[in-house]
Amino acid sequence: MLTKLLIAGPEVVGLSGAHFLRVDASSLTALTEQAFADVSHLLRTGHLEQLRAILDDPEASQNDRFVALELIKNAVIAAEREFPSCQDTGTAIVTGKKGQNLLVNGPMRAAIEEGIRTTWASRALRYSQMAPLTMYEEKNTGTNLPAQIDIEAVEGEALDLIFMAKGGGSANKTFLYQETRRLLEPDRLLAFFDEKIRTLGTTACPPYHLAIVIGGLSAEQCLKTVKLASARALDDLPGDGDITGRPFRDRGLEAQILDLTRKMGMGAQFGGKYFCHDVRVIRLPRHGGSLPVGMGVSCSADRQIKARIDREGIWLEALERDPARFLPQVQTAPEAVRIDLNQPMTAICAALSKLAVSTPVLLSGTMIVARDLVHAELGRMMAAGQPLPGYMTDHPIYYAGPAKTPAGHASGSFGPTTAARMDPYVPELQGRGASRVMIAKGNRAASVVQSCKAHGGFYLGSVGGAAASLGRDVIRKVEQIDFPQFGMEAVFRIEVQDFPAFVIIDDKGGDFFARPQ
Ligand code: SF4
Repeated sequence: MLTKLLIAGPEVVGLSGAHFLRVDASSLTALTEQAFADVSHLLRTGHLEQLRAILDDPEASQNDRFVALELIKNAVIAAEREFPSCQDTGTAIVTGKKGQNLLVNGPMRAAIEEGIRTTWASRALRYSQMAPLTMYEEKNTGTNLPAQIDIEAVEGEALDLIFMAKGGGSANKTFLYQETRRLLEPDRLLAFFDEKIRTLGTTACPPYHLAIVIGGLSAEQCLKTVKLASARALDDLPGDGDITGRPFRDRGLEAQILDLTRKMGMGAQFGGKYFCHDVRVIRLPRHGGSLPVGMGVSCSADRQIKARIDREGIWLEALERDPARFLPQVQTAPEAVRIDLNQPMTAICAALSKLAVSTPVLLSGTMIVARDLVHAELGRMMAAGQPLPGYMTDHPIYYAGPAKTPAGHASGSFGPTTAARMDPYVPELQGRGASRVMIAKGNRAASVVQSCKAHGGFYLGSVGGAAASLGRDVIRKVEQIDFPQFGMEAVFRIEVQDFPAFVIIDDKGGDFFARPQ
């Protein structure tokens, strides 16, 4: 549902005997600012209904229900509009269609960029865009620009837009497969998706809205359709094709693939039924010699919002402002083992060594935060034979990068990032006594499992997508202690109280994600 905004709308003007709508560029800036502010803090009502349905499903696993409850609680905090729902506040993407009889009074791209700049500067969001200075050197742009802006020219006098804030972990789960006609057999197609969907893993914070596109006049058309389908922007497509080559949704195949995902056992991050909320399958026309197949997801930070400018005014999709109504009256949490992090690393590892894989834990004490850029530096130090900083051996490592801290709080939204990017460094770090306990999200390489077994290490999984509740209720203190030049990727020392996690990899070769699910 779209609601009308109190922003100056377009006026009708006559030009060369024709009528046009003319909207001021400043209105487009104001619309962009509000759209990205809303989408950073609020979710769609339908998405929250799907999370609530997990709580009410007796077939959902206990871990499915735990993740769903954490995500609803996170939505409640984010809706207060201080903490963004996720620490990765995303790349700003604006896509849509502009009628040729709608005129923007001023530079349209600059107007949209100004709205993005203002939203990221004025709210506790995170700047994620890296400018390449040379092929090998990069620097954060400090504005979250550039943005991806793709607006198509069409007939008419309306401007229809979708604003998306796409996180890196979610974007990384977009895939293109160049297949052939041979794939278009029912059994073969299902087997193909059974294999490919498993490779999505849990690093993009399920439950997912999964989008699959079969066909396309080009690879880029296929993948653009994936993005729009994952945003549920193509839901009104017809249910069958015709000789014109019109796109259609295959709702039968959607149901079959959803069923497939429910039986995979990966569940909402830690095992169960709810790997996906829903599935969209779209069939496009294709060149007879190619069959592009695309797959992508919208993650638990399900951030997209529709807008429209037309003769009646300026409109924006109404997102859910009261997510608390989806909380159950009685909230139960799995029995968790408390781990004191303010003890020597050998004692922390001894405590974790008593626990079975998948045991829930509550961590309290000191952690070190370090991610991609710091690990690259540590890799260089090790290659140069230099000693590692003491904090790497003394404390557990949390792979994360915070959003800005809202005034009056100790931390901003501060959820886990994808652990797998740090995998190549783990064996050598652990060989030097560092990174014995790692905390992040998603599955890890077999080399990490082997390293933990060889060096007595552990990997603990945190709920991806619940960054606002970690930032407001769990992280008590944040102090930058090294590599300040890396901004949000610097090394931080943080104090946590009852940080929830699960044992994913233990010191005996156990790996939660490698178990038969
Ligand atoms: S919910 Fe997960 S995948 Fe989505 S933006 Fe946040 S960290 Fe990335």
